[in-house]
Amino acid sequence: MTHATTTSDAGAADLAAEVADLAERLPGPLRPLARVAYDLRWSWDPDGPPTFAAIAPSLWEAVGHNPVRLLREVRLANLRAAAADEALVGRAAALEARVEGPPRPVASGGVAYFCAEFALHRSLPGYGGGLGVLAGDILKEASDLALPMVGVGLLYRQGAAHQRTDASGWQHDWWSTAQPDALPMALVTGGDGKPVLVSVPVGDREVVAQLWRVDVGRVPLLLLDADRPENDAIGRWTTARLYDGDPETRLAQYALLGAGGVRALRAVGIDPAVVHLNEGHAALAALELACVEREAGADPQEALARARAKTIFTTHTPVPAGNDTYPPHQVAEQLGRLCEQAGIAPEQLVRLGRTTPDDEQEPLGVTQLALRTSRAANGVAERHGHVSRGMWRGVWPDREEADVPIGHVTNGVHLPTWLGRPMRALLDRTFGEGWTARADDPATWQALDDVPDEELWAVRNAQRAQLIALARERGARDRLVRGDQRAYVAAAERSLDPDVLTLGFARRIATYKRIGLLVADRERALALLGGEHPVQLLIAGKAHPRDEEAKRTLQGVFELKQDPRVAERVVFLDDYDVALGAALTQGCDVWLNVPRPPLEASGTSGMKSAANGGLNVSVLDGWWAEAFDGSNGWGLDGSVEHGDQGARDWRDAGAMLDVLGGEVAPMFHRRDAQGLPREWLQLVRNSLKTNGPRFSATRMVRDYARDMYGLG
Ligand SMILES: *Cc1c(COP(=O)(O)O)cnc(C)c1O
Repeated sequence: MTHATTTSDAGAADLAAEVADLAERLPGPLRPLARVAYDLRWSWDPDGPPTFAAIAPSLWEAVGHNPVRLLREVRLANLRAAAADEALVGRAAALEARVEGPPRPVASGGVAYFCAEFALHRSLPGYGGGLGVLAGDILKEASDLALPMVGVGLLYRQGAAHQRTDASGWQHDWWSTAQPDALPMALVTGGDGKPVLVSVPVGDREVVAQLWRVDVGRVPLLLLDADRPENDAIGRWTTARLYDGDPETRLAQYALLGAGGVRALRAVGIDPAVVHLNEGHAALAALELACVEREAGADPQEALARARAKTIFTTHTPVPAGNDTYPPHQVAEQLGRLCEQAGIAPEQLVRLGRTTPDDEQEPLGVTQLALRTSRAANGVAERHGHVSRGMWRGVWPDREEADVPIGHVTNGVHLPTWLGRPMRALLDRTFGEGWTARADDPATWQALDDVPDEELWAVRNAQRAQLIALARERGARDRLVRGDQRAYVAAAERSLDPDVLTLGFARRIATYKRIGLLVADRERALALLGGEHPVQLLIAGKAHPRDEEAKRTLQGVFELKQDPRVAERVVFLDDYDVALGAALTQGCDVWLNVPRPPLEASGTSGMKSAANGGLNVSVLDGWWAEAFDGSNGWGLDGSVEHGDQGARDWRDAGAMLDVLGGEVAPMFHRRDAQGLPREWLQLVRNSLKTNGPRFSATRMVRDYARDMYGLG
């Protein structure tokens, strides 16, 4: 690649200074851990979390598995004891060796990956759900595959909302405030030792942002942060909360992420060959990329064309309401000066962002803007590719739907992040050294045929038991906090059983996800829970703070509460996040997903479950429509219906209960003389072998590199 000759420090020295500062506080033998703490690579090393936990187990929990805080706050006595523990010191040194050297400068010529949210670890705020999880998994996998990439995002001081449900099931939202000093990141400074600043005009305000660098293995992530004294309260609020409820604040966020993100890369001297916009939030990058080309001598038309030639776009949202739009007057008011700097009239920007440019009534849509200003676009599963071509065909009025230039790269999950320890150990033993780099090869997974049923079953039992221990404790605590009656609290602790068939349903509460199907036919659902074959159900999920309809849906699920069978067999766990998501997908035997087709773009939680030996019972939509083969789980009706949704929901709820009661529960309980569920384990094996390679992030990132970036 022609660009790759220049490199930029881009905060590497700042991160190294943080490492040195932390190292000075540690006894000599533990100093390698300072370096480890400032690179998230530790979080997907099997020995990373246990090594930090061993220093001070209860503090490790109290600081939310944040190693920077652990090492800064731990008592000297604990540090001295750890430094005297030879085995622990050896593990620390080995970990550092695997983190591979000091923070690196960044080469130009790679991929700049823009996203409004990154879910990297439970200790880092700033993600809402699946989009952020995908973005985090892509950075990690790019690191593993040594694909040159830099992430670009926003640092939200308050992150996304936390959830607490009350005794009536109503969701209350609360926010915590992040302390960047206590997180594994460094403020990026320039040659003068002062913070590197970029600014973006929004309305009559100049929003100034500083940059933080987070190392995700070999991939640095730059986060823009408007918490600067130059900004007034409104300016600072720009990066307070992920997807702020106010549309104008969101537009300012998009300007900062897109245009500000490109400015940030320039400010630190990174010139990417490919700009990847993950979802439409970063679409305003086009303005600034065109500006760069104009400075290099291109005329306005040519500038846009050149910007487009390096941009690719991934769309995620098959629900129209999920695609933000802005009326022309608001674009002119808020983005007028930014447009002027780019040499593009606001009217022209609006035209680029309309399905029909001449339709004066149509607002600017960020998805249309991103589609028009990128050279290639993709959906996130095969079916979602089809749906997107239909949804956006108006942007290409003279093409047939099949020729709409939106392809697909099906999502995958970063296996080292999502595998439970027992399953990881089994796969390490079975697949051999370095298998994760071969995770996308079906031949790797064939070796599962050599694993005895006993071993596979032992892994499943161990992971379920871990989850049930956590669910008992958290379930009881959540009930106490809600002010539930003591008998009801005790039921959560007493009754959940580590040997009982465990169903999981955890996802963002959005109407199309249809959590209500679980309780639509109350009597039948209760009969299943208390039936001949015992079943327990763990539920988690948050509604967006402003989504009252979703909050009412969630409350509907709580209405089951009065029945004693429910007290013992159904537990709702508050505040779904990546830690809870990992625990649930590792431990549940069955992962339920019942979206209204065709509105599930992909879904990734079911992939996490499959990789851990869980079985999917899911509507044939999103990823499952291409994954299900009749022998690796259960598929529910995925056809699209435009008529009476209530009738369809009722039918789908019934079909789900038919499968659960008629097939799933009996098969789980059918045991042979050794007590093994042979048929069940055959399905688990099929699911691992078929889904493991295809829905790994290894396959996904290689697809992106080859088909979208042109780097493969
Ligand atoms: C994996 C994950 C998601 C995405 O799962 P879906 O299948 O898209 O619902 C969302 N939130 C968390 C916390 C996750 O871990």
